[in-house]
Amino acid sequence: MDAKVLLSGNEAIARASYEAGVLVACAYPGTPSTEILENITRYKEIDASWAPNEKVALEVGIGASFGGARAIVTMKHVGVNVAADPLFTLSYTGVRGGLVLVTADDPELHSSQNEQDNRNFAKFAKVPMFEPSDSQEALDYTKLAFAVSEQFDTPVFLRSTTRISHSKSVVNIAERPKEIPQPKLSRDPAKLVMLPGNARKRHVVVEQRIKDLEEWSCSQPFNRIEDGAGEVGVITSGVSYQYVKEILPEADVLKIGMVYPLPKQLIRDFAARNHQTLYVIEELDPFIEEQVRAMGIKVVGKEKLSLCGELTPGRLQQGLFGGSVPTEDTSAELPQRPPNMCPGCPHRGIFMELNRAKAYVTGDIGCYTLGFMPPLSAMDTCVCMGASIGNATGISKVLSAEEQRKVVAVIGDSTFLHTGINGLMDMVYNQSTATVIILDNRITAMTGRQENPASGYTLSEQPTYQVDLEQLCRAVGVKNIRIIDPYNISLTRKTIREEMARPEVSVIISSRPCVLVPRDNLERRSPLYVDHDKCTGCQACLRLGCPAITWDSDKKKSNIDKIICVGCKVCQQTCGFGAFQEYGDQS
Ligand code: SF4
Ligand code: SF4
Repeated sequence: MDAKVLLSGNEAIARASYEAGVLVACAYPGTPSTEILENITRYKEIDASWAPNEKVALEVGIGASFGGARAIVTMKHVGVNVAADPLFTLSYTGVRGGLVLVTADDPELHSSQNEQDNRNFAKFAKVPMFEPSDSQEALDYTKLAFAVSEQFDTPVFLRSTTRISHSKSVVNIAERPKEIPQPKLSRDPAKLVMLPGNARKRHVVVEQRIKDLEEWSCSQPFNRIEDGAGEVGVITSGVSYQYVKEILPEADVLKIGMVYPLPKQLIRDFAARNHQTLYVIEELDPFIEEQVRAMGIKVVGKEKLSLCGELTPGRLQQGLFGGSVPTEDTSAELPQRPPNMCPGCPHRGIFMELNRAKAYVTGDIGCYTLGFMPPLSAMDTCVCMGASIGNATGISKVLSAEEQRKVVAVIGDSTFLHTGINGLMDMVYNQSTATVIILDNRITAMTGRQENPASGYTLSEQPTYQVDLEQLCRAVGVKNIRIIDPYNISLTRKTIREEMARPEVSVIISSRPCVLVPRDNLERRSPLYVDHDKCTGCQACLRLGCPAITWDSDKKKSNIDKIICVGCKVCQQTCGFGAFQEYGDQS
C-alpha cells in the first residue's frame, strides 16, 4: 500500500525506520529529536527504548548492528558530544546491519545551551552525512542511509535541523519489507576489536571509504543540479535550499543531499559554468564554503550571511540584497511570555529557599534551569548535561572553607542518571564539600515527560525496575542523604541550611512528581484563593513567581487564577498573614 500523508520530518524519519526494516531504535530525548522515537513506538516491529544518555543509546545501536540488525539512534546536537567516544571508533569498525545516527541540530538555540553545527562531526569522525530539505527527503534519505551504511560498511549520519524536524510536508509512504534478514552472531574480531594493531589497519579502510563515497556520490540523484537562468549559481543543502528557491528563483542550484563527503567533482563541474556570482548558502558554519574555497573555487558566502542563528528567507534576502528583513517573523507582535516553571512545579520552593540562603548554585539542564529567571534568580552557572556536580567540585577547590559552604549543585533525576552520577563519584572520591540537590520529579520533564530509569516505566509505559536514588548515592559513598518533600517549605528551608553548613558531601533528594504527570499525581488538591481582608500587599508571594499568582495593582492585593492553580500550597507557606485560603471540599 503506497499513500500520501502529511508528516513532520521527525515523523518521516520514524516511518522510514519502519519501511527500512529497522529492528532496534534507541535514544536519549532532546529537542528537536524527541518525537522520532515517540513515533517509532507506533511500529511494534521495532524495539524502541530510552537510554540513560546518548553514549549508551549509541552503544545499544552498535550492538544491534553487530548482531546483524538495522538500528537507528537519535539525539539532539549536543547529544553527539556525549556519544562521540563510541562514534569515532564505530567509524573504524564499521557495521553489520545498517546503522543510522540522527543528529537533530538546533540553529537559533530554540531549546539548547549552544548552537552547534554537527556537519563538523561528520568530517571529524569520517562518517558520511545526509541532510534532507523536507519531510519527503527525511524519509528517502533515512532509507538511503541504511543502504549506504551496509554498502560502504559505515555508520551514517542523518542531520536534521529544528525546521526540518518540526515542519510538515506531504510524503509518499510505502510498506515494510516482508522478509527481514534474521540477526545472528558472526565473529570478526579483526574488524570489531579495536586494539591498536587492528585499528591501524581499519584507519586505512576508513580513508579509502571516504574517497569511494565521494566518487560515488557525484553521480547520485541526491546531489543534483537544477538549471536556472545561468547568471547566478548557488551551492546549498538542507533547509537553506528552500530559502534559496524562494529568494533566488532564477539561480542555477547545486543541491547537495550528502554533505559529507562533498561531491567535489560535481562541484568543480558546477563552478566551471562560470556564473557571474557563485554563492554558497548555508546555515551556521561555513562548512561547505571552506571546503569549496580549499578547492581553489571563488565563492561568496559568510561575508554576506551570519554565522549565528537560523537562516530565514528574510535574513537571506537582507544578506544578499540589503534592506530590512521582511516581517515573516511575527513574534514581536505577540505578548511576551518569559519562560517559567509550571504552577505547582515541585522545584519552585527549592529555588526560593536557595535564593534566600544566598547559595551559589551550579545548575544543570532541565526545567529547573528556569530557576535562573527572576524572581527566583537562584542559578549561577549552567554548562551542559550532568555538569553541575563537577562544577561544584571544581569551584569548591578554589574557595575558602567559609565560601565553600555556599556552593550547592542542583540536578534533575534524569540528568543525574545521564552523566551526573560520575560527578558525584568524583566529588566523594576527591573529598569535596559541596551540597548536591537531586530534583527528583520522576520524569524527564523538559523534553516532554519521557521516562527514565528512575521513573519506573519504559518508553512503552511498561512498569520496570525504578532506580533507588538514595541507595545509588550511598553506593558511591555519600554518607549524608536527606529526602524531603519540596512542598513542605519549612522542612526544605531547614534541610538546605543544615546541609549547606555541613563540611562534607551531602545529598538532598527533593522528591515530588512533576505536576504534569497524571500517573504520579493521584493526590486530590483544590485551588486556593486570596482573602483580600488578610492580604497586606507585602508581595512576598510574588517572589515565588508562580504563574497562577497575579497582582492587582489597583487594589494592591494578590490574586490566584483558579483555572491554573494546582493547589500545591507553597504560596500559603510563604504568606505571613494567612491570606491564602482553601475553598474547602469542592465535591
Ligand atoms: S514540567 Fe514539571 S518539572 Fe517542568 S516546570 Fe512544569 S511542573 Fe516543573
Ligand atoms: S497553590 Fe499557590 S503556589 Fe501552588 S499553584 Fe496555586 S497559586 Fe501557585
